[in-house]
Amino acid sequence: MIFQPQLRVPGPTPLPERVTRAMSAPMIDHRGPEFADLLAEVTTGAQRVFGTEKEVLVLTSSGTGGLESAIANLVSPGDKVLSVVVGNFGERFRSIAQAYGAEVISYEVEWGQPAEAADLRQLLDQHPDAAIVLLTHNETSTGLTNPLAELVRVVKDAGRLALVDGVSSVSSMPVDVDRLGIDVCVSASQKGWMAPPGIAFATVSEAAWERQAQARSPRYYFDYQQARKFAPKGSTPWTPAVGVLYGVREGIRMLLEEGLDNVYRRHREIAEACAAGLEAIGFQLYAAPGFRSATVTAARPPEGVDIKTYRKLLRERFGVVIAGGQGKADGQIIRVGHLGAVSGGDLVQVLWAMEQALEELDVRPNHGLGVGAAGRVLGEASQAPLAV
Ligand SMILES: *Cc1c(COP(=O)(O)O)cnc(C)c1O
Repeated sequence: MIFQPQLRVPGPTPLPERVTRAMSAPMIDHRGPEFADLLAEVTTGAQRVFGTEKEVLVLTSSGTGGLESAIANLVSPGDKVLSVVVGNFGERFRSIAQAYGAEVISYEVEWGQPAEAADLRQLLDQHPDAAIVLLTHNETSTGLTNPLAELVRVVKDAGRLALVDGVSSVSSMPVDVDRLGIDVCVSASQKGWMAPPGIAFATVSEAAWERQAQARSPRYYFDYQQARKFAPKGSTPWTPAVGVLYGVREGIRMLLEEGLDNVYRRHREIAEACAAGLEAIGFQLYAAPGFRSATVTAARPPEGVDIKTYRKLLRERFGVVIAGGQGKADGQIIRVGHLGAVSGGDLVQVLWAMEQALEELDVRPNHGLGVGAAGRVLGEASQAPLAV
Protein backbone atom coordinates (compact mmCIF):
# COMPACT_ATOMS: atom_id res chain seq x y z
CA MET A 1 0.00 0.00 0.00
CA ILE A 2 1.53 3.31 -1.02
CA PHE A 3 -0.75 5.61 0.97
CA GLN A 4 -1.24 5.73 4.73
CA PRO A 5 -4.04 3.45 5.88
CA GLN A 6 -7.00 5.46 7.11
CA LEU A 7 -7.99 4.32 10.59
CA ARG A 8 -11.49 5.70 10.84
CA VAL A 9 -13.09 3.84 13.69
CA PRO A 10 -14.35 5.97 16.59
CA GLY A 11 -11.30 5.13 18.70
CA PRO A 12 -8.51 4.26 18.75
CA THR A 13 -7.77 7.20 16.48
CA PRO A 14 -4.68 7.82 14.31
CA LEU A 15 -1.59 9.18 16.03
CA PRO A 16 -0.02 12.35 14.64
CA GLU A 17 3.68 11.95 13.99
CA ARG A 18 4.46 14.40 16.78
CA VAL A 19 2.68 12.12 19.23
CA THR A 20 4.46 9.00 18.00
CA ARG A 21 7.81 10.73 18.33
CA ALA A 22 7.01 12.06 21.81
CA MET A 23 6.29 8.52 22.91
CA SER A 24 9.76 7.29 22.00
CA ALA A 25 11.27 9.22 24.95
CA PRO A 26 13.18 7.17 27.55
CA MET A 27 11.35 5.76 30.53
CA ILE A 28 11.45 7.77 33.75
CA ASP A 29 10.91 7.27 37.47
CA HIS A 30 7.20 7.69 38.06
CA ARG A 31 8.01 9.15 41.50
CA GLY A 32 10.61 11.56 40.16
CA PRO A 33 10.61 15.21 39.07
CA GLU A 34 10.20 14.60 35.33
CA PHE A 35 7.03 12.67 35.96
CA ALA A 36 5.74 15.43 38.23
CA ASP A 37 6.22 17.88 35.35
CA LEU A 38 4.52 15.51 32.93
CA LEU A 39 1.52 14.98 35.20
CA ALA A 40 1.23 18.70 35.94
CA GLU A 41 1.19 19.63 32.25
CA VAL A 42 -1.32 16.90 31.39
CA THR A 43 -3.56 17.87 34.30
CA THR A 44 -3.61 21.60 33.63
CA GLY A 45 -4.08 20.97 29.91
CA ALA A 46 -6.93 18.57 30.60
CA GLN A 47 -8.55 21.15 32.89
CA ARG A 48 -8.66 23.57 29.98
CA VAL A 49 -10.09 20.95 27.66
CA PHE A 50 -12.78 19.88 30.16
CA GLY A 51 -13.49 23.48 31.14
CA THR A 52 -12.90 22.92 34.82
CA GLU A 53 -10.79 24.47 37.54
CA LYS A 54 -11.32 21.45 39.74
CA GLU A 55 -9.17 18.37 39.87
CA VAL A 56 -8.92 16.16 36.84
CA LEU A 57 -7.87 12.70 37.95
CA VAL A 58 -5.56 10.84 35.59
CA LEU A 59 -6.26 7.11 35.69
CA THR A 60 -4.43 4.32 33.92
CA SER A 61 -7.30 2.44 32.28
CA SER A 62 -9.56 2.44 29.26
CA GLY A 63 -12.64 4.63 29.14
CA THR A 64 -14.79 1.91 30.66
CA GLY A 65 -12.47 1.89 33.67
CA GLY A 66 -13.05 5.63 33.97
CA LEU A 67 -16.82 5.06 33.97
CA GLU A 68 -16.44 2.29 36.55
CA SER A 69 -14.36 4.62 38.72
CA ALA A 70 -17.26 7.08 38.81
CA ILE A 71 -19.68 4.37 39.93
CA ALA A 72 -17.28 2.74 42.40
CA ASN A 73 -16.65 6.08 44.10
CA LEU A 74 -20.15 7.56 44.18
CA VAL A 75 -22.69 4.75 44.16
CA SER A 76 -23.41 2.55 47.16
CA PRO A 77 -25.22 -0.80 46.97
CA GLY A 78 -28.97 -0.16 47.02
CA ASP A 79 -28.67 3.45 45.82
CA LYS A 80 -31.30 4.50 43.33
CA VAL A 81 -29.64 5.62 40.09
CA LEU A 82 -31.40 7.05 37.05
CA SER A 83 -29.75 5.87 33.87
CA VAL A 84 -30.34 7.64 30.57
CA VAL A 85 -29.73 5.15 27.78
CA VAL A 86 -29.68 6.14 24.10
CA GLY A 87 -27.39 3.39 22.82
CA ASN A 88 -24.76 0.79 23.55
CA PHE A 89 -22.50 2.96 25.74
CA GLY A 90 -25.45 4.10 27.83
CA GLU A 91 -26.26 0.42 28.34
CA ARG A 92 -22.68 -0.17 29.46
CA PHE A 93 -22.74 2.68 32.02
CA ARG A 94 -26.03 1.28 33.35
CA SER A 95 -24.59 -2.25 33.55
CA ILE A 96 -21.69 -0.98 35.65
CA ALA A 97 -24.11 0.66 38.10
CA GLN A 98 -26.08 -2.59 38.26
CA ALA A 99 -22.88 -4.57 38.88
CA TYR A 100 -22.25 -2.35 41.91
CA GLY A 101 -25.69 -3.15 43.27
CA ALA A 102 -27.51 0.06 42.38
CA GLU A 103 -31.26 0.02 41.94
CA VAL A 104 -31.39 1.37 38.41
CA ILE A 105 -34.29 3.27 36.89
CA SER A 106 -33.89 3.35 33.11
CA TYR A 107 -34.88 6.17 30.85
CA GLU A 108 -34.48 4.40 27.55
CA VAL A 109 -34.76 6.14 24.21
CA GLU A 110 -35.02 4.61 20.76
CA TRP A 111 -31.54 4.29 19.21
CA GLY A 112 -30.72 7.26 17.02
CA GLN A 113 -32.94 9.59 19.04
CA PRO A 114 -31.82 12.01 21.77
CA ALA A 115 -32.92 12.02 25.39
CA GLU A 116 -35.39 14.79 26.16
CA ALA A 117 -35.10 17.21 29.04
CA ALA A 118 -38.86 17.21 29.74
CA ASP A 119 -38.98 13.42 30.01
CA LEU A 120 -35.97 13.40 32.28
CA ARG A 121 -37.53 16.06 34.51
CA GLN A 122 -40.69 13.99 34.83
CA LEU A 123 -38.74 10.88 35.79
CA LEU A 124 -36.77 12.80 38.38
CA ASP A 125 -40.05 14.05 39.85
CA GLN A 126 -41.28 10.46 40.03
CA HIS A 127 -38.07 9.30 41.71
CA PRO A 128 -37.06 11.94 44.23
CA ASP A 129 -34.68 9.47 45.88
CA ALA A 130 -32.63 8.85 42.71
CA ALA A 131 -29.64 10.93 43.74
CA ILE A 132 -27.46 10.09 40.75
CA VAL A 133 -28.12 10.41 37.02
CA LEU A 134 -25.97 8.71 34.38
CA LEU A 135 -25.75 10.51 31.04
CA THR A 136 -23.96 9.81 27.77
CA HIS A 137 -22.89 12.99 26.02
CA ASN A 138 -21.90 11.50 22.68
CA GLU A 139 -23.35 8.05 21.99
CA THR A 140 -20.65 6.53 19.81
CA SER A 141 -22.77 3.50 18.89
CA THR A 142 -25.44 5.56 17.11
CA GLY A 143 -23.56 8.72 16.11
CA LEU A 144 -25.80 10.84 18.29
CA THR A 145 -25.00 13.75 20.58
CA ASN A 146 -27.42 14.34 23.44
CA PRO A 147 -28.42 17.92 24.33
CA LEU A 148 -26.05 17.78 27.30
CA ALA A 149 -26.49 21.32 28.60
CA GLU A 150 -30.29 20.94 28.82
CA LEU A 151 -30.11 17.51 30.40
CA VAL A 152 -27.52 18.50 32.99
CA ARG A 153 -29.53 21.61 33.85
CA VAL A 154 -32.56 19.44 34.62
CA VAL A 155 -30.44 17.15 36.79
CA LYS A 156 -28.87 20.03 38.72
CA ASP A 157 -32.17 21.91 39.12
CA ALA A 158 -33.54 18.75 40.72
CA GLY A 159 -30.57 18.68 43.10
CA ARG A 160 -29.08 15.42 41.80
CA LEU A 161 -25.57 14.50 40.71
CA ALA A 162 -24.76 14.26 36.98
CA LEU A 163 -22.23 11.61 35.95
CA VAL A 164 -21.34 12.06 32.30
CA ASP A 165 -19.73 9.72 29.80
CA GLY A 166 -17.79 12.24 27.73
CA VAL A 167 -15.38 9.63 26.40
CA SER A 168 -15.91 10.37 22.70
CA SER A 169 -16.85 14.05 23.01
CA VAL A 170 -14.43 15.81 25.36
CA SER A 171 -11.55 17.34 23.32
CA SER A 172 -13.57 17.19 20.09
CA MET A 173 -16.66 19.19 21.07
CA PRO A 174 -17.28 21.78 23.77
CA VAL A 175 -18.28 20.36 27.16
CA ASP A 176 -17.64 23.05 29.83
CA VAL A 177 -17.80 20.93 32.96
CA ASP A 178 -17.85 23.78 35.49
CA ARG A 179 -20.28 25.99 33.62
CA LEU A 180 -22.75 23.14 33.19
CA GLY A 181 -22.19 21.85 36.72
CA ILE A 182 -21.27 18.29 35.75
CA ASP A 183 -20.22 16.29 38.83
CA VAL A 184 -18.08 13.63 37.20
CA CYS A 185 -17.07 13.73 33.55
CA VAL A 186 -15.02 10.92 32.03
CA SER A 187 -12.95 10.81 28.85
CA ALA A 188 -10.22 8.57 27.45
CA SER A 189 -6.92 9.06 25.65
CA GLN A 190 -7.62 7.08 22.46
CA LYS A 191 -10.49 9.30 21.27
CA GLY A 192 -10.11 12.99 20.41
CA TRP A 193 -6.95 13.34 22.52
CA MET A 194 -4.88 11.80 19.67
CA ALA A 195 -3.03 9.38 21.94
CA PRO A 196 -3.09 5.59 22.28
CA PRO A 197 -5.52 3.80 24.61
CA GLY A 198 -4.53 3.55 28.25
CA ILE A 199 -5.39 6.77 30.07
CA ALA A 200 -8.80 7.85 31.36
CA PHE A 201 -9.67 11.20 32.91
CA ALA A 202 -12.31 11.97 35.51
CA THR A 203 -13.31 15.42 36.72
CA VAL A 204 -14.76 15.56 40.23
CA SER A 205 -17.00 18.34 41.61
CA GLU A 206 -17.28 19.39 45.27
CA ALA A 207 -20.64 17.64 45.58
CA ALA A 208 -19.11 14.50 44.09
CA TRP A 209 -16.29 14.58 46.66
CA GLU A 210 -18.85 14.87 49.43
CA ARG A 211 -20.76 11.90 48.17
CA GLN A 212 -17.54 9.99 47.57
CA ALA A 213 -16.64 10.33 51.23
CA GLN A 214 -19.94 8.64 52.21
CA ALA A 215 -20.18 6.00 49.47
CA ARG A 216 -19.77 2.38 50.53
CA SER A 217 -18.95 0.37 47.40
CA PRO A 218 -15.69 -1.56 47.56
CA ARG A 219 -12.92 0.30 45.75
CA TYR A 220 -9.18 0.19 45.76
CA TYR A 221 -7.38 0.77 42.44
CA PHE A 222 -9.89 3.47 41.48
CA ASP A 223 -10.24 5.10 44.89
CA TYR A 224 -10.48 8.83 44.17
CA GLN A 225 -9.11 9.67 47.65
CA GLN A 226 -5.88 7.91 46.76
CA ALA A 227 -5.59 9.78 43.47
CA ARG A 228 -6.32 13.05 45.28
CA LYS A 229 -3.67 12.36 47.90
CA PHE A 230 -0.93 11.66 45.36
CA ALA A 231 -1.71 14.41 42.84
CA PRO A 232 -0.19 17.30 44.85
CA LYS A 233 2.99 15.23 45.19
CA GLY A 234 3.18 15.03 41.40
CA SER A 235 2.42 11.36 41.08
CA THR A 236 -0.33 8.77 40.91
CA PRO A 237 -1.05 6.07 43.52
CA TRP A 238 -0.05 3.23 41.21
CA THR A 239 2.40 2.98 38.32
CA PRO A 240 0.80 4.96 35.47
CA ALA A 241 1.05 4.30 31.73
CA VAL A 242 4.00 6.70 31.40
CA GLY A 243 4.51 6.01 27.69
CA VAL A 244 0.88 6.80 26.89
CA LEU A 245 1.10 9.97 28.97
CA TYR A 246 3.97 11.21 26.78
CA GLY A 247 1.53 10.90 23.90
CA VAL A 248 -1.33 12.51 25.81
CA ARG A 249 0.87 15.50 26.70
CA GLU A 250 1.81 16.01 23.05
CA GLY A 251 -1.80 15.56 21.94
CA ILE A 252 -2.94 18.20 24.41
CA ARG A 253 -0.20 20.58 23.21
CA MET A 254 -1.47 20.15 19.67
CA LEU A 255 -5.09 20.79 20.71
CA LEU A 256 -4.15 23.98 22.53
CA GLU A 257 -1.90 25.18 19.72
CA GLU A 258 -4.72 24.77 17.20
CA GLY A 259 -7.10 26.46 19.64
CA LEU A 260 -10.03 24.56 21.12
CA ASP A 261 -12.62 26.56 19.19
CA ASN A 262 -10.85 25.71 15.94
CA VAL A 263 -10.66 22.05 16.95
CA TYR A 264 -14.39 21.97 17.64
CA ARG A 265 -15.18 23.76 14.40
CA ARG A 266 -12.97 21.38 12.40
CA HIS A 267 -14.82 18.38 13.85
CA ARG A 268 -18.23 19.91 13.17
CA GLU A 269 -17.36 20.76 9.55
CA ILE A 270 -15.94 17.33 8.81
CA ALA A 271 -19.01 15.68 10.34
CA GLU A 272 -21.28 17.77 8.11
CA ALA A 273 -19.20 16.90 5.07
CA CYS A 274 -19.30 13.23 6.01
CA ALA A 275 -23.07 13.28 6.37
CA ALA A 276 -23.51 15.03 3.01
CA GLY A 277 -21.11 12.65 1.29
CA LEU A 278 -22.76 9.52 2.66
CA GLU A 279 -26.26 10.69 1.79
CA ALA A 280 -25.13 11.49 -1.74
CA ILE A 281 -24.10 7.86 -2.26
CA GLY A 282 -27.26 6.31 -0.90
CA PHE A 283 -26.57 5.89 2.81
CA GLN A 284 -29.25 6.72 5.34
CA LEU A 285 -28.03 8.60 8.38
CA TYR A 286 -28.91 6.83 11.60
CA ALA A 287 -29.04 9.66 14.15
CA ALA A 288 -31.83 12.21 14.21
CA PRO A 289 -31.15 15.49 12.37
CA GLY A 290 -30.00 18.21 14.73
CA PHE A 291 -28.37 15.69 17.05
CA ARG A 292 -25.73 14.20 14.79
CA SER A 293 -22.36 13.74 16.33
CA ALA A 294 -19.29 15.78 15.40
CA THR A 295 -17.04 12.77 16.04
CA VAL A 296 -18.76 9.74 14.53
CA THR A 297 -21.30 9.28 11.75
CA ALA A 298 -23.50 6.18 11.73
CA ALA A 299 -25.50 5.22 8.65
CA ARG A 300 -27.42 2.38 7.05
CA PRO A 301 -25.86 1.39 3.71
CA PRO A 302 -27.80 1.32 0.44
CA GLU A 303 -29.85 -1.78 -0.22
CA GLY A 304 -27.83 -4.83 -1.22
CA VAL A 305 -24.71 -4.09 0.83
CA ASP A 306 -23.47 -6.81 3.13
CA ILE A 307 -21.66 -4.79 5.76
CA LYS A 308 -19.04 -7.42 6.54
CA THR A 309 -18.06 -7.79 2.89
CA TYR A 310 -18.09 -4.05 2.39
CA ARG A 311 -15.83 -3.33 5.36
CA LYS A 312 -13.45 -6.10 4.31
CA LEU A 313 -13.19 -4.65 0.81
CA LEU A 314 -12.57 -1.17 2.20
CA ARG A 315 -9.85 -2.45 4.46
CA GLU A 316 -8.08 -4.73 2.03
CA ARG A 317 -8.35 -2.78 -1.20
CA PHE A 318 -8.41 0.80 -0.01
CA GLY A 319 -6.71 0.74 3.37
CA VAL A 320 -9.77 2.38 4.90
CA VAL A 321 -10.92 1.00 8.24
CA ILE A 322 -14.42 1.93 9.41
CA ALA A 323 -16.54 0.40 12.17
CA GLY A 324 -19.69 -1.68 12.04
CA GLY A 325 -22.65 -1.47 14.39
CA GLN A 326 -22.61 -2.43 18.05
CA GLY A 327 -25.19 -4.32 20.08
CA LYS A 328 -28.55 -4.37 18.38
CA ALA A 329 -27.28 -2.26 15.45
CA ASP A 330 -24.70 -4.92 14.55
CA GLY A 331 -25.02 -5.80 10.86
CA GLN A 332 -27.29 -2.81 10.20
CA ILE A 333 -25.04 0.22 10.16
CA ILE A 334 -21.53 1.36 9.46
CA ARG A 335 -19.81 4.00 11.58
CA VAL A 336 -17.17 6.41 10.36
CA GLY A 337 -15.01 7.87 13.10
CA HIS A 338 -13.79 11.43 12.44
CA LEU A 339 -12.21 12.56 15.67
CA GLY A 340 -8.77 13.55 16.79
CA ALA A 341 -6.23 13.77 13.99
CA VAL A 342 -8.56 14.17 11.02
CA SER A 343 -8.64 16.62 8.14
CA GLY A 344 -11.07 17.35 5.34
CA GLY A 345 -8.64 15.61 3.00
CA ASP A 346 -8.75 12.45 5.11
CA LEU A 347 -12.51 12.43 4.94
CA VAL A 348 -12.51 12.89 1.15
CA GLN A 349 -10.18 9.89 0.85
CA VAL A 350 -12.49 7.80 3.02
CA LEU A 351 -15.57 8.79 1.02
CA TRP A 352 -13.81 8.14 -2.25
CA ALA A 353 -13.03 4.62 -1.09
CA MET A 354 -16.56 4.14 0.21
CA GLU A 355 -18.16 5.13 -3.07
CA GLN A 356 -15.64 3.20 -5.13
CA ALA A 357 -16.28 0.08 -3.06
CA LEU A 358 -20.02 0.38 -3.74
CA GLU A 359 -19.26 0.40 -7.46
CA GLU A 360 -17.04 -2.66 -7.14
CA LEU A 361 -19.79 -4.52 -5.33
CA ASP A 362 -22.14 -3.55 -8.17
CA VAL A 363 -24.44 -1.80 -5.72
CA ARG A 364 -24.43 1.56 -7.42
CA PRO A 365 -22.21 3.71 -9.61
CA ASN A 366 -21.46 6.99 -7.89
CA HIS A 367 -19.10 8.85 -10.23
CA GLY A 368 -17.71 11.07 -7.50
CA LEU A 369 -21.06 12.07 -6.01
CA GLY A 370 -19.97 11.50 -2.41
CA VAL A 371 -16.64 13.22 -2.80
CA GLY A 372 -18.31 16.13 -4.57
CA ALA A 373 -20.95 16.62 -1.90
CA ALA A 374 -18.39 16.46 0.90
CA GLY A 375 -16.03 18.76 -0.97
CA ARG A 376 -18.75 21.37 -1.35
CA VAL A 377 -19.48 21.37 2.39
CA LEU A 378 -15.79 21.67 3.19
CA GLY A 379 -15.34 24.42 0.63
CA GLU A 380 -18.19 26.46 2.04
CA ALA A 381 -16.95 25.87 5.57
CA SER A 382 -13.51 27.21 4.79
CA GLN A 383 -15.15 30.51 3.73
CA ALA A 384 -17.09 30.73 6.98
CA PRO A 385 -16.09 33.04 9.82
CA LEU A 386 -14.10 31.56 12.64
CA ALA A 387 -16.69 31.59 15.43
CA VAL A 388 -18.18 28.23 16.42
C1 LIG B 1 -14.96 4.47 23.48
C2 LIG B 1 -16.05 4.78 24.43
C3 LIG B 1 -16.06 4.31 25.76
C4 LIG B 1 -14.95 3.54 26.40
O1 LIG B 1 -14.44 2.53 25.79
P1 LIG B 1 -13.10 1.80 26.21
O2 LIG B 1 -13.01 0.80 25.13
O3 LIG B 1 -13.27 1.21 27.54
O4 LIG B 1 -12.00 2.83 26.21
C5 LIG B 1 -17.10 4.69 26.58
N1 LIG B 1 -18.08 5.49 26.15
C6 LIG B 1 -18.10 5.98 24.91
C7 LIG B 1 -19.20 6.90 24.53
C8 LIG B 1 -17.09 5.65 24.01
O5 LIG B 1 -17.11 6.14 22.77
